Amino acid sequence: MFKIAVLPGDGIGPEITRAAQIVLKKVEQAFNLKFALKEGVFGGAGYDAYGTPFPEETEKMVEESQAVLLGAVGGPRWDDLPRELRPESALLALRKKLGLYCNLRPVKYFKVLAEKVAWKPELLSEVDLIIFRELTGGAYFGTKGRKEKEAFDTIQYSWEEVERLVRRGFTTASKRKKILHSIDKANVLETSRLWREVVNQVAKEYPEVKVEHMYVDNAALQLVVNPQQFDVIVTENMFGDILSDLAAAIGGSLGMLPSASLGGKISLYEPAHGSAPDLAGQNKANPIATILSLALMLRYSCQEEEAALAVEKAVEQVLEAGYATGDIARKNSKVVGTQEMAELIAQRINNPSGKIT
Ligand code: NAD
Repeated sequence: MFKIAVLPGDGIGPEITRAAQIVLKKVEQAFNLKFALKEGVFGGAGYDAYGTPFPEETEKMVEESQAVLLGAVGGPRWDDLPRELRPESALLALRKKLGLYCNLRPVKYFKVLAEKVAWKPELLSEVDLIIFRELTGGAYFGTKGRKEKEAFDTIQYSWEEVERLVRRGFTTASKRKKILHSIDKANVLETSRLWREVVNQVAKEYPEVKVEHMYVDNAALQLVVNPQQFDVIVTENMFGDILSDLAAAIGGSLGMLPSASLGGKISLYEPAHGSAPDLAGQNKANPIATILSLALMLRYSCQEEEAALAVEKAVEQVLEAGYATGDIARKNSKVVGTQEMAELIAQRINNPSGKIT
């Protein structure tokens, strides 16, 4: 029995996490697995119910789980609250509590979405890459200061902080195409020189993995002109933040991009997008990012690779059959709602034709 804390959050959060549960139910049957799900209020919903975005009850539920599936938090209703009561602060508190130092974002090109993507299709046909972004160090968390018309942010990394992130990248690279790009700015930053040293040291344990060091400015260019060269990317917090958004455009829509945050005993899985208040409650949101995040949970927390692949395959088959939510609709698409999309994907788990048997 695998215990999952489901935190729907705000906006489209409840709809997309419900959609993921439709798929999970089918995975249980198809692979003879057992999941125990508990739902907790979180974000704006937590504030409305308990006056705090990360209520104690939810915290306890998370502690008792083995993984967390999150929808999204935030919305205009809570924008004027003080910082510590805003929905986003719950997300930061959750990441900190779980010690999630590794943010993983797979980016895959879906051929059927070619017209939704700014790149020429021939540049993308092979793109299927993963970015490992360090999540708890660097400029976002270093010492900061402000003195009238002067300000500073400090980038600081320890060998251990770099090593634990980089090691995850190598482990994954050794199971995939055996190529790892480490992105830094070692020509000007001391932290990048340390980063490079760590990468070269860890590389000795993975002789089968080819390592390419690349400066971040060149990496941005290369992601645009030749994204197919990448498979696994490891990089520090701020570079990863920027590059993962750039690479995200390859997915065709924010609604297609899953993410996993790893590091502690309990990992967090959530779509890369926000709570899309403009779509909330209308059964219009694309649930695929959340469903693909669920696939990541099956892969990284449950060690059920076969089930993860089945979910990913089912998503592809539904897209190829011409179904789409509004955000990924093309000329001849059959446009469906959030729930219908989840049902179509569930039907295709280990059943490519989608026929109900
Ligand atoms: P957003 O990602 O919610 O929406 C940006 C655009 O993408 C909108 O047009 C939206 O309709 C569309 N979109 C997003 N997800 C979609 C989906 N699944 N299907 C179809 N279309 C989708 O970003 P925003 O508008 O900048 O922020 C809205 C709220 O979400 C804010 O309160 C923000 O703070 C919050 N937010 C939360 C998270 C999180 O929970 N991790 C991340 C980003 C933003």
